[in-house]
Parts: sequence; structure tokens; C-alpha cells
Amino acid sequence: MNKKTKVVIAGGGTSGWLSAYSLIARLGAVLDITLIESDHIGTVGVGEATIPTMRNYHQLIGIDEQEFMRATQATFKLGIEFENWGQQQQSYMHSFGEIGQRSWMVEFHEFWMEAKANGFGGSLDDYCLELKAAKANKFATKLGNRSINYAYHLNATAYAQYLRGKSEALGVKRVEGKITHISNHANGNISCLYLDNGLQIDGDFFIDCTGFKSLLLGESLGVVFEDWGHYLAADSAFAVQTESVEDPKPFTVATAHSAGWQWRIPLQHRTGNGLVFSNQFLGDQAALDLLTQNLKGKMISEPRKLKFRTGRRQKAWYKNCVAIGLANGFIEPLESTSIHLVTTALVRLMKLFPISESTSFQAERFNQETNKELESIRDFIILHYHLTEREDSEFWRHYKNMQIPETLNHRMQIFKENAYAWPDEVGLFRVDSWVQVMMGQGIFPKQHHLGAKVIETKGLHQQLSSYKQMVEKAVAQLPTHVDFLKQYCDSHLQQMEKEQA
Ligand SMILES: Cc1cc2nc3c(=O)[nH]c(=O)nc-3n(C[C@H](O)[C@H](O)[C@H](O)COP(=O)(O)OP(=O)(O)OC[C@H]3O[C@@H](n4cnc5c(N)ncnc54)[C@H](O)[C@@H]3O)c2cc1C
Repeated sequence: MNKKTKVVIAGGGTSGWLSAYSLIARLGAVLDITLIESDHIGTVGVGEATIPTMRNYHQLIGIDEQEFMRATQATFKLGIEFENWGQQQQSYMHSFGEIGQRSWMVEFHEFWMEAKANGFGGSLDDYCLELKAAKANKFATKLGNRSINYAYHLNATAYAQYLRGKSEALGVKRVEGKITHISNHANGNISCLYLDNGLQIDGDFFIDCTGFKSLLLGESLGVVFEDWGHYLAADSAFAVQTESVEDPKPFTVATAHSAGWQWRIPLQHRTGNGLVFSNQFLGDQAALDLLTQNLKGKMISEPRKLKFRTGRRQKAWYKNCVAIGLANGFIEPLESTSIHLVTTALVRLMKLFPISESTSFQAERFNQETNKELESIRDFIILHYHLTEREDSEFWRHYKNMQIPETLNHRMQIFKENAYAWPDEVGLFRVDSWVQVMMGQGIFPKQHHLGAKVIETKGLHQQLSSYKQMVEKAVAQLPTHVDFLKQYCDSHLQQMEKEQA
């Protein structure tokens, strides 16, 4: 047997332990994996909303859904409800479901626009099972042979602990200690990490999961941070947990305020809340007041301030080190994309093994894909802020009038003119995602595809009506979210019921 490649993971937050478990589960026979973390430093510990790609990723690395959900007090998520974004007192949902039925040439929203032009069609929402189920508080993982597209709300701290247990069981070595300095080979590659307790950990390849510090890639290897604060001004958050005051809803709520926005993430046993804001527009005390005045339920933790920078390292992989998670970059949590980025980085990395002495081509490939991915997420997030009719505060006026990336401008202009939307090149946000946000925040395109007029109006009416009925029927058949959780994965709900009985 060949000597195992020594992989050292620095940092044990969600990124560190997800990296450790993924590598040991799939490449454990050829890798010797050590993870270093410091209990004194701790983790960010937020990051409780996810997107559906997590399901596929868990399947790839062999995580059992029910076990994982019990361990993390997770609930299901069918989308995000955006309140007060386009205008105050208005809301829309970005759901994970497909809306209606498209043809290869004409997207469903264009058929729907044709219907609207002829005086029928109702709301676009009526054609999306996941969206209607979310609003009705209904859920199942599938209905007959119809799959349902969903993600999770989870307890981030419990998730890292769960992954740690599984990783250690498979042979990942955990080393406690604070990394104090780093040494390099003559070619610049990292050779060894030195800890405050005197330990020295050497390796062939290093994964930097040290969070915002980016100790290896940023501090030691000097890879420059590209700041996107001029596009996305948020640099702070207050996070706090509250008691549950209602059955957990199968969606996240993102409520826009006069400066910043607030998340509400229901878990089985409590609710996660937070306010994302920019110190440029809101002081800490005002932000804290805004958050605490808009909570449902009693606080069960002290509000915690988090500082962050939006942007990315220019190269996620440099020399024999790749940064995964916050160590590579961060785009604020509006569309819950950070854990997703950890998983795509890991898939990319695992596809590019083996890591030989000369890794520059692999690194280049990795960096190109990572950069494209981050740019399209960045554009999608900017869209939510920029596409607004709100002018009630300096914050909203700033976003409404800001210069946006040309890539986003191009997208918005085409949609305004022709209703044309396309999925991201790297495949995260689908046509329906872009359409839901662009229409949800006020764009009604001037015209739509001629192909939607090819169908006779009567035929279109029939097709839309039967699709709508199919959605209504399906939603009626679904159990409530809370009932589904109780029988599928509850770690807490049944216990609560017993106590109340
Ligand atoms: C306000 C906010 C809200 C968020 N919400 C979401 C969300 O809803 N969904 C989502 O997907 N993501 C969200 N995220 C992002 C998510 O929290 C992170 O992607 C996730 O927690 C991964 O963090 P990490 O593991 O990269 O870093 P961290 O959690 O910061 O972990 C860093 C690790 O490095 C270790 N470390 C650091 N320095 C040293 C040292 N010198 N020696 C040894 N060890 C060291 C620490 O001890 C820790 O173990 C949010 C982030 C923020 C800031």
C-alpha cells in the first residue's frame, strides 16, 4: 500500500468538520486526516438555513437524513419569504420549487404572462407546489412519485458536533490547540503548523477552515482579499435565539427594515433570529433595538454581535493550501449560500485529487470555477437590494442608486425588455429563482416570448387551470409540516407534547 497523503485541516467549524467527514468518508483509504481546532477561539456558530443542494451532498457523502435531522433539531425549508423588499407591506416567496411547466423554448412565466394579457392566469405562485405547500404549512419529502425540492433549517453548532463524531469514528485525528505560526518549504508550500501547546503538525496538503481569519491562505500565504463592500455594504449582524411560539414553518423569513434585514429560522426546539446590517447606516445600539423589538417569543440567549467582510480571496487554492468556507470568503446570508459553497468547494476538491507536487493547473481550474460561482451569487444577492421601489431611508436610496456589476445589469435589462431569464453558468440559481425575485420585487417585463402565443388561448386556459388544480390537490394531500417532523425525525417535538399532556 502506498503511503497515505497527509491532509491537515485547520479549523473545526462547519467547514472544517464537513471537510473532514467528506474526505474520510470518500477518500479515507488514501488520506491521513488531522483536524486542528481551538476551543478557546470557538466557531461562528450561526448558519442555520440551507438550500436544497445540501440533500444531494449528504447523499454523496453518505449522511442519513433522519439521523442528521434528529441530531441537529432540523426542520424542513421550502423557500424564503421576503417581506418589505420591493416595497413596504409587500411580500413574495423565493421557493425551491419549479413553477409550472416550461417548454425547451418558452419558460413558464412567459406562458403565464400570455394568460395575464388575456385576462386569466391568477398568480404565478399558484403554479408552484413547494410555494403553496410552504404557505399552507404543509410538507412531505415526496408525494407519490412527485419529488419535492427542499432544504433544511438546522442547529449549526449541533451540525459541527454531529460531523465531528462521525469523522472521529472513521479515523480523523482531532488536535486541540491554537495555531501560532506556520512554516513553509523553499517553494512556498506550507510545511508545518505550530500550536501554542508545543505540538507541530506537518502535512502534504492543507485546508484552511479558520474562518474569517484565513490564517493559512490569507495571513501566511498572503493571498489578497477582494472586498465587495462597495456592492454589499452589510458588515455586521446580531444573532439571538428565541423560544418557539408557533409550530415551525417550512420556510425562512427575511424581513427588510429601514436599514438592514432580519432573519427568522424555525428549528424544532427554538427559533434562530438575526439582524444583518451595515454600521455605515445603523449603529450597534439601534440595530440591537431593531432586532429585539421585532422578535416573536422570549429571548433564550444573549444577542451576539458578528462582524464580517463581504468578498473573497483572489485565489481559493494557492500552493498546497485551499481555503474552504469563511476563510475563502463570505457573501451575506440572505439566500443561505455559505454552507452550499463549502459543499461545492469540497466536490471540486475531491474531483481534483490526487494532489501531486505540482498543483498549479488543478488550482487554476478550482479557482476559475469558484470565482464564477461566487460572482453569480453576489449578483443574485445585490439584485434583492438594488431592485426596490423603497426610498424611505438612506439605506434604500443607497442601494437603489448604486452602480451594479455589468453582469447583473445585463440580466435585469433583458428581463425587463423580453422576460428572458437563464440559469447561472455554475448552476446554482435556476430560471425560476431569478424570475421569482425579479417579478417579486417589481419587474413586469414589457413583452414575452412569441412562442407563448402559438398555443390557442382556450388551450392555454385549460392547461393552466389543470396545472393549478393539480397543485391545489397535491397541497391538500400533504400532512402539516409539524406532523411530518414528528413522525420523521423529531428530537424534541414529541417530548414537548408528552410534557404538555
Ligand atoms: C451572520 C451570519 C449568518 C449566517 N447565516 C448563514 C446561513 O443561514 N446559512 C449558511 O449556509 N451560512 C450562513 N452563514 C455562514 C456560516 O456561518 C459559515 O459558512 C459556517 O459557519 C462555516 O464557518 P467556518 O467553519 O468557515 O468558520 P468558523 O465557524 O469561524 O470556524 C473557524 C474554526 O477555525 C478555528 N480557528 C481559528 N483560528 C484558529 C487558530 N489560530 N488555531 C486553531 N484553530 C483556529 C476556530 O476555532 C473554528 O473551529 C452565516 C454567517 C454569518 C456571519
